[in-house]
Amino acid sequence: MARSWWTVWRRLTLLFLGATLLGGITQQWQLTLLLAALGGLAWQLWQLYRLDRWLDGDQDVCLPHTGPVWDGIQGRIARLYRQSRKRKRKFSRLLQQFQQAVAALPDAAVLLSEDDRMAWCNGAAQPLLGLTPSRDHGLPITHLLRHPGFVAFLNQRGNNDHVEFPSPVDDSLLLSARIAPYGKKQRLLLVTDISRVRRLEQMRREFVTNVSHELRTPLTVIAGYLETLLDSDDPVLAGWEQPLRRMQQQSGRMLHLIEDLLLLARLESQKERPPLKPVAVPALLTDIAEDASALSGDQGHQISVIADPGLWLLGCEKELHSAFANLTINAVRYTPAGGQITLRWFADERGLHLAVADTGEGIAPHHLPRLTERFYRINRDRSRSSGGTGLGLSIVKHILNNHGGQLRIESTLGAGSIFTCDFPVELRVAPGCSETESG
Ligand code: ADP
Repeated sequence: MARSWWTVWRRLTLLFLGATLLGGITQQWQLTLLLAALGGLAWQLWQLYRLDRWLDGDQDVCLPHTGPVWDGIQGRIARLYRQSRKRKRKFSRLLQQFQQAVAALPDAAVLLSEDDRMAWCNGAAQPLLGLTPSRDHGLPITHLLRHPGFVAFLNQRGNNDHVEFPSPVDDSLLLSARIAPYGKKQRLLLVTDISRVRRLEQMRREFVTNVSHELRTPLTVIAGYLETLLDSDDPVLAGWEQPLRRMQQQSGRMLHLIEDLLLLARLESQKERPPLKPVAVPALLTDIAEDASALSGDQGHQISVIADPGLWLLGCEKELHSAFANLTINAVRYTPAGGQITLRWFADERGLHLAVADTGEGIAPHHLPRLTERFYRINRDRSRSSGGTGLGLSIVKHILNNHGGQLRIESTLGAGSIFTCDFPVELRVAPGCSETESG
């Protein structure tokens, strides 16, 4: 037992011995013992009361000396208090540094409560989103940022990883918002200004489009003259037929490349989207299969179409023709003579699908994720010699994106490939359906 407690026991013993002695002298045992017990209790209560007052008030002020146990308790409380004050100062310094760091971020950071109310925001939230921490604290974020795209993104909880929308402060700024969950059910909204990136992308697109336009006219003229020269019976040109044919072939390739670049630029630009109309996909596929047979020529590919005649699609016929033809022509080009090519058009509970299957050379798995990149070719020379530009699958991907669909590629090296275009079920229309009926 601690020394302080021995002292207490000693004092109590002395008190009761004194009371017993006094009781012996006065013949009032009970009264003196009772008075001694009451006195001891009253003293302890008084010490408790003073400790309570001291805890309520300024703990830097020391209690007067009140005996070993009470002094010990007071000392320990004071030590704990000093330690907690030191810890608090350290944490508030850290918190201040953290807040300064977050405030200095060029991106807007907004803390959202469980019910999506604004709990806090940094300095960049003011110029980008028009939010002020003092004024907007506790308000629902959808009352502060009302863009429909943002509201839908906030409510969908996790399907898309980001959303782009114009700044409510300055609509020339394009913002990209992401949400990171943290804590129990809170969320952190991070908003970045992507106007500069988009402007650079736009400049790149315009540059490619302008160069392509500028090259198209002189190339068309060259191709025209080459054709005239090849058609001419002039004996002077007799020895030039071979080089002229090579030149015509190369200028044709360049024109093809330019047409593909211009088509990609058009597909990327969301401004000139053509209206969607009901497309008779089965008839479209029959035409494409006939063209593919002509391309196959004496290579003798077996091209078949299995199409549900009752399945039409709401889309842009020209674009769909381009996408389906690209896949079918690729199947012919990358399948050895006599191989089988099947175009299958069907619907299931997940949507509408066009699967172009071939028994060709197949693709190694590590190429698959990169096939739709521009100019990505497994064998550059092979692609060039068969008239490829390296843009075909990129065009297909953009066309499908514009229809809310996607491209899936399955392939086994040496056994063949299946390129599947998936379309959402909402694009299904009844055969013969007119534009107004479908819209
Ligand atoms: P390209 O004009 O070179 O065909 P694409 O974008 O259409 O460009 O295709 C990219 C690459 O994907 C091709 O170079 C080829 O290597 C590969 N590829 C495309 N379709 C097939 C296929 N059906 N079978 C095997 N490889 C294919």
